[in-house]
Amino acid sequence: MSELERSCIVVGAGISGLLACRELKASGWRVTALEKKASVGGRMATRSVSGGNFDHGAQFFTVRGERFAALVEEWIQAGIAEEWSRGFAGPDGKFNPDGYPRYRGSEGMTSIPGYLARDLDVRTSVRVTEIDIREGFWEVRTETGTRFSGGALILTAPVPQSLALTGSGSFEMPANSRRQLEKISYDPCLALMARLDGPSNIPEPGGIQIKGEPLDWISDNFQKGISEAPGVTIHAGPRWSREHFEDDEDRITRSLLELADGWLGSPVIETSLTRWRYSWVAISHPQPCLQATTSPPLIFCGDAFGNAKIEGAALSGLAAADRLLEQA
Ligand SMILES: Cc1cc2nc3c(=O)[nH]c(=O)nc-3n(C[C@H](O)[C@H](O)[C@H](O)COP(=O)(O)OP(=O)(O)OC[C@H]3O[C@@H](n4cnc5c(N)ncnc54)[C@H](O)[C@@H]3O)c2cc1C
Repeated sequence: MSELERSCIVVGAGISGLLACRELKASGWRVTALEKKASVGGRMATRSVSGGNFDHGAQFFTVRGERFAALVEEWIQAGIAEEWSRGFAGPDGKFNPDGYPRYRGSEGMTSIPGYLARDLDVRTSVRVTEIDIREGFWEVRTETGTRFSGGALILTAPVPQSLALTGSGSFEMPANSRRQLEKISYDPCLALMARLDGPSNIPEPGGIQIKGEPLDWISDNFQKGISEAPGVTIHAGPRWSREHFEDDEDRITRSLLELADGWLGSPVIETSLTRWRYSWVAISHPQPCLQATTSPPLIFCGDAFGNAKIEGAALSGLAAADRLLEQA
């Protein structure tokens, strides 16, 4: 294979894209990840609000399989992940221990993608707007008109966003792959970060797992160990989020603070809202990735493929890289 053939462009620097990059790079491929946001991590997202540190996307992760367990062990050894708890309180505030470890990033979820990206060629604040095939290679164009070429292309964005890219140039997606990808769907999530003036009422270890409506989850980022200042993250349930997704920010903020009122415990100093249009996968694809074309290869991956959540996304990124390596 030529050097250009053993090169890959990865769109998206969430956990799936970063692990795909790392796996390919370890086998000698030239890999470039393009990420539209200013920082890496995607839905593993940590933000500072008024001096408080908040995880506003994924809150924790669990480990089921050996391949992911080996990665998590590496992260723990590197000091960028640690166990948070072995259960959370339910909506009644009573702790429900079940013995299974839940992990967090050491300084918030972005610790982990930040660590993975450190030796990779990741270009942030680069939004891909068009993909096409030119002379047998993938050509990716960004919103500023920059072009990147690669022998292979991996798309890791939530599938509706990746699919929109495939219709941007003269490339035609194979109808069968398109049909399978169009079945995938996600739930939205409205996530409110509220910086507090003092401690919250959330019991140890700092999470209320409701798994319902109108609220799904409330966490205390101070008790979690990622923030020196008190503050809570409030996630609305999928139905409430869908119904209120386009409401104005003040209205959503007021409603979520009212709904979480019993757990706040201290006055709210400042808030910030994230509208996750694609949060949890509602309908997934059964395989860990989907290869739409072989020459040149185009692979879709991310948490919508195989198992969901952070572990599923991680394994999907690795599966996409494995596919390319098998074909090389
Ligand atoms: C509110 C919320 C709570 C969650 N809670 C949990 C939890 O507690 N536990 C758990 O395991 N999972 C949780 N999840 C799910 C978990 O975060 C995801 O499954 C996982 O992070 C997905 O990783 P990914 O790499 O597949 O996608 P993403 O993290 O979405 O990465 C895709 C990347 O592609 C980028 N991108 C998109 N379009 C473009 C473009 N055109 N050009 C360049 N870049 C682009 C995006 O900016 C993003 O960085 C939660 C998610 C949300 C939103």
